[in-house]
Amino acid sequence: MDIRKVVLIQPGREGPILGRASAAPYTLMRLASLVPEEIPVEIWDENLEPIDPKLRQLGPHDLVGITSKTLSIESAERFARIAHEAGVRAVVVGGTHPTLLPEEVARWADVVVTGEAYRTWPRIIQDFINDTLQSRYDDTEWADLAGVARITDRVIRMVDENRRYWTPMLEITRGCPRNCTFCTAIRVSGSRMRLRPVEEVVEEIERRRIKRFFLTDDNFGLAFRTHPEYIEAVLKALAKLPLQGWTTQAELLISEYPDLLTLARRANLDKVFIGFESVNPANRRELGGKSKGQIAQYMEAVKRIHAHEIGVVGLFVFGFDHDTPQTLADTWEFACASGLDSLSMTILTPYPGTPFREQLIAENRLMDKPWRYYDTAHLTFYPKRMTPEELEEAYDIFCRRAYSTFNIVRRGLRVLSRHPLRRLPRKVFGSFSTDIGYRYTFAWRHVNGRRLLNAWGLGE
Ligand code: SF4
Repeated sequence: MDIRKVVLIQPGREGPILGRASAAPYTLMRLASLVPEEIPVEIWDENLEPIDPKLRQLGPHDLVGITSKTLSIESAERFARIAHEAGVRAVVVGGTHPTLLPEEVARWADVVVTGEAYRTWPRIIQDFINDTLQSRYDDTEWADLAGVARITDRVIRMVDENRRYWTPMLEITRGCPRNCTFCTAIRVSGSRMRLRPVEEVVEEIERRRIKRFFLTDDNFGLAFRTHPEYIEAVLKALAKLPLQGWTTQAELLISEYPDLLTLARRANLDKVFIGFESVNPANRRELGGKSKGQIAQYMEAVKRIHAHEIGVVGLFVFGFDHDTPQTLADTWEFACASGLDSLSMTILTPYPGTPFREQLIAENRLMDKPWRYYDTAHLTFYPKRMTPEELEEAYDIFCRRAYSTFNIVRRGLRVLSRHPLRRLPRKVFGSFSTDIGYRYTFAWRHVNGRRLLNAWGLGE
């Protein structure tokens, strides 16, 4: 069959913020780069513009690909329906949710892609052209990252990420062996930590001309322990680039590597998002061995990282079986005493394919909630030591306090005060932006979320 164009869709929720979308569609940029140059390709990001009217213009010679996580899978289904009504014959759906629950997605998608699509996507395009499209493509190879899906100049020009997005994304490592009971990383990215060749990382940054970025890596910090020579090489290479700053996810153990932290500072690492997860030591079994709920240990680690002028954003999860409202009071105390730069508090969420979800099913504690509530700000299961109302009330009180204008300004000014005067102009944006982003996410739970659901006809 002739192919007119390939359209890759990123469902969104937030919409543009001050004229730009928050995170650039990195996975789709790489998939778009695998489309042969002679075939037109477009990326449609719902965070930048409404997609429905454009979908209605498509036809049988267009190949539509949608990426979706659990939260957005209902949007993906709606896009597929509109595309089918317009005459599109092949809607391909991949991403984390189809990887975790392919049979569910197969009920409405023409093609389901599980695993990393970088190797199956070129085959899907060829099969569409040859009229031999299958209903399912699986990739569970966890293949090496060398040479995978190099972003092309055509896609860089098309996405124009430096003008249309606040945060370009970048991948350096992938995978995490920890297997925390609530996390999907091991099932989506694999348990083996894989590394991109340093020269490919540098080449990509230079060609994309990005000065700031957020790493998509599941646990970049773990590589400080598992692959220190590689991390040293990456950081030395990044230090030679004219970067303004970058951020990544890590874990506490990076504080044990002062030499690498010194290199990281030279490489313009701005701040690390550290998954403390819980200040309640009784939860340590759920945390895959990376945190033990020991506050004294946490405080010391934050101090050591701060000493390298690297900021620390604390990521916490609430709702483990040993948690009570007192856990949040303890978390707040820790956040204030440790001088965290920003903090994210989310509600434990039983994503498909996780041991935590299986436990809830076995104990009949899963609530019957649509996937759109799996946004880590809504409760989707019955907690053990609290009523749902108690958990939600404690969470709301915590977030209102944590993300009050007063506390955001206070934390931001404290961050600024840690930097020398010459660096202040570059630090202003980053000192407040993370907290403001979390405040926006929390607000979704109450106002914006309902407005959007009503607009979709999904309001309750
Ligand atoms: S350490 Fe982080 S990425 Fe790894 S399994 Fe745990 S939560 Fe997931």
